[in-house]
Amino acid sequence: MKKPINVTVTGATGQIAYSLLFRIAAGCMFGTDQPVNLTLLGRAGSNNAAMTGTMMELEDCAFPLLWNMVDTTDPMQGFRDADVALLVGARPRGPGMERADLLQANASIFQTQGRALNEVASRDVKVLVVGNPCNTNAWIAMKNAPDLKAENFSALMRLDQNRAEAQLAKRLQVRTTDLAHVAVWGNHSPSMAADVTFSTACGESVLPKLDNVWLEKEFAPTVAKRGGAILAARGASSAASAASASVDHMHDWVLGSNQRWVTMAVPSKGQYGVPEGMVFGFPCVCENGVATPVEGLALTDVTKTKILANIRELQAEAQAVKEFVP
Ligand code: NDP
Repeated sequence: MKKPINVTVTGATGQIAYSLLFRIAAGCMFGTDQPVNLTLLGRAGSNNAAMTGTMMELEDCAFPLLWNMVDTTDPMQGFRDADVALLVGARPRGPGMERADLLQANASIFQTQGRALNEVASRDVKVLVVGNPCNTNAWIAMKNAPDLKAENFSALMRLDQNRAEAQLAKRLQVRTTDLAHVAVWGNHSPSMAADVTFSTACGESVLPKLDNVWLEKEFAPTVAKRGGAILAARGASSAASAASASVDHMHDWVLGSNQRWVTMAVPSKGQYGVPEGMVFGFPCVCENGVATPVEGLALTDVTKTKILANIRELQAEAQAVKEFVP
């Protein structure tokens, strides 16, 4: 039997975790032959009763792969020897809260968590930030963990790719598994750039089958504003789909993407003019536990313009939280 992987999850009282934790324990993230030890990191001062209830339910599933489970509110204990950290918990936007207030409120959470990861996590820990604003939160955590490699950090943009693939498959009347090379660039915000320039369906370019009006007026805005549309329809934000995308992201990062492009927000190494270190959505290929952005693509002028807008947006976010970054 394999050695168990230590997985730490924050935000365990929330609605994403209520879906995510059960899929991890069932073997969807790391494979059905890979045991896991789960640590649920709660918020100090919170009533973590919901977390206790979730743990009781996890126990009641009698998952063969769930070898151990503990909870704590201390990040230094919660991240000790973590191989994988899923940072889902984040302060939601409250009434009257400006975007700058939200950025600041979350910055202190990810500063603390970055410092703790730096101190006590496995040196090869894979960190996925889901809590919004996820690109900037991941950047803050990364900057506060100077002893870990920048490549250990990532943020969730796979949900945006999955949304793009679902819309495209519906339009072309194909299955999502027929599609390849769908990309989403930039920030997990309405500015993100969904890109089908290189996409294929059943091995053939999708471009001749699509018109620009649909791409610009329907496809791109539907993908970018999907979170808001779900909130309006369901009265609660995307949860199961965000959990599923988190499973996809970490599964492919750890086990490989088999040459498939998968969108991940990762620290830039200067590709496509994105400033070094900025946590930016790129199409990536994952192999041997390493996610590598696909380089050398001939981008359209539209995509280049959108990438620039995303860079500016992330620079403004970084500026708003600069006191949380050494
Ligand atoms: P919920 O509101 O259901 O849960 C929020 C969780 O965050 C709770 O566990 C809560 O703990 C915790 N939390 C709140 N404030 C803090 C704090 N100050 N410090 C630490 N933890 C805190 O949210 P969801 O589960 O639906 O979503 C979680 C995050 O994921 C949100 O930021 C959301 O915007 C983001 N998201 C990201 C997506 C992406 O694609 N990147 C997609 C969908 C959502 P407590 O109960 O103690 O308050």
